[in-house]
Amino acid sequence: MKKNIATKIIATLGPASSSKSIIKKLAETGVDIFRLNLSHGDFASHDLLIKNIRGASRELKIRTGIMIDIPGPKIRIGKLSKDPFVLKRGERIYLKSAAVAGNENFIPVDFRDIHKIVQEGTSIFINDGAVKLIVKKISNHIVECRVDIGGEIGSRKGINIPGGKFAASAITGHDKECVKFGIEHNVDFFAMSFVRKAADLETLRRLVKREKGSQFLISKIEKPEAIDDFDNILSETDGIMLARGDLGIEIPIEKVPIVQKRLLAKCNYAGVPVITATQVLDSMVKNPRPTRAEAADAANAILDKTDALMLSQETAIGKYPVETVRTLRNIIYEAEKILEPGGRYESYQNPTIADSVARSVVETARDLNIKTIVTPTRSGHTARLISRYRPGARILAISDSQKAVNDLTLSWGVDSILMDHRLDLAVLINKVRNLLLKEKYAGSGEKFIITSGSPLSEAGETNVMLVETV
Ligand code: PGA
Ligand code: MN
Repeated sequence: MKKNIATKIIATLGPASSSKSIIKKLAETGVDIFRLNLSHGDFASHDLLIKNIRGASRELKIRTGIMIDIPGPKIRIGKLSKDPFVLKRGERIYLKSAAVAGNENFIPVDFRDIHKIVQEGTSIFINDGAVKLIVKKISNHIVECRVDIGGEIGSRKGINIPGGKFAASAITGHDKECVKFGIEHNVDFFAMSFVRKAADLETLRRLVKREKGSQFLISKIEKPEAIDDFDNILSETDGIMLARGDLGIEIPIEKVPIVQKRLLAKCNYAGVPVITATQVLDSMVKNPRPTRAEAADAANAILDKTDALMLSQETAIGKYPVETVRTLRNIIYEAEKILEPGGRYESYQNPTIADSVARSVVETARDLNIKTIVTPTRSGHTARLISRYRPGARILAISDSQKAVNDLTLSWGVDSILMDHRLDLAVLINKVRNLLLKEKYAGSGEKFIITSGSPLSEAGETNVMLVETV
C-alpha cells in the first residue's frame, strides 16, 4: 500500500498497546515497525505480542517489521518493599548488591560489583536521571550515598553510572535468551543496547549466526564510548539508533542535540539507516497534544535526515497511543513538504558504480518530475543508496529475498515488495507496469525509473537506469 509519508515510524509495544485491535489501529495509522522491549515482560507475553502483530498485519495486508530490543548490561534496582517511594534531597541512602527487598534507606542493586565501579564523588542516576545520588563512602561492599536530586524511585528502575568502568560483557545470559527467542520467532531486527565498540556488534553477529539467524542488527548509541568508536561501529552495523534516553544521562544533556546532528550526518553519508529515539512526543504519555518543542524536535530530526522516529513510552504505557502515532504522522507530513527533493547531499569521494547510478537516478527523477523509482535489489543495498539522497520520488524495492524486503521497512521512502526480481529486464518492466497500476503508484502514461544490474547472470552491481512509461 502506498503511504503519503517517507519517514518511518517505530512504536514500542507495552501494556497500553498489547491487544490485536490496538496494534491494528497503530499499523493503520502509520506504524512501520513494532518494537518489543525485552527489558520488561516475560517471553510468553512477547510471544503473544508477536502473534498479535502478525495477525494484525495479515488482516490489514500491511507489511510491518518486528524489532526486538536486547536489554544489555543495564544495572537495575531490585524489589522495594514500599514501591514506589520518594527520596528527598540531603538524605542518606545505602546501595548494595542484594536479592532481598529494599526500603527507605537501603536499595538493593542487581549488579554484583557495584561497590567496585564507584568511588567517593561518583554520581549515580536512577529512573532515567530523575534521581541523582552522590557516593560518599564505600565500606564492606556497601555504597553510602547522599541524595543530590530527590524524586520517586520504584522496583526494577534503571541505574546509570556515567564513567563507571564496568567490565560486564556486552551480552548477558538473558540477552542470549532474547536472541534465541527472536530467531525462533523470525523477527526482523535486533537492537543492541549499550554498544560500546564495534567488537560488541561482531560478538552479537557471531551469536546470531551460530543460532542460524540473519537479523538486521541495530546499534543503540547510548554510551560515550560508542560515540568515540562511532566510525568503526558504523562500518560493522546494519543500522543505528540514537538512544537519547540513556545517552542523555551518560553524557551531559547539552551535548545530546549536537551529537545527534553529527551522527545523523555520518549515518546518512554512509547510507546506514538511522532511528532517532526516545521522548519524541513524550508529553503525549499523559496529554492528548505534544509540546511545541517536541513537534519541532521531530521535524528537525527529519530535516537532518533521520530514517525513522521511534515512540517508546508514548505507545507502550501512554494514554494516547494511536493519537500519538497520528500526531507524529502529521508532523512528518508537514516536515517532508520542505525537504528539497534530492536536494543537499554529500557526494562520495570514491563512489562505486552503484553509488553513482543511484545519484543519477535521483537527479533524473528530479529533472523529469518522476514520482516512482523501481529498484530490483538482492540485499536492499541499491534501495538504501537511493534513499540516502532523499528523492522526491517514492522508492519501490522489489526483491525475491524476504529478508531484504523486511529490512527495508526501516529505510526512508522505501516500500518493498516480495517478487522475483531476477527476470529478463523487458519481462520485468512489463510486470512492474502492471504492479504500479494495480498498487496505484502511477497512472497510465506516467513515467517511472527502473534500475538494473547487467548482466543478470552475474548478480552484479546496479549499473543500469532506464526511464520507462506506464
Ligand atoms: P531504551 O533505549 O528505551 O531501551 O532504554 C532507548 C534509549 O535509551 O533512548
Ligand atoms: Mn536505553
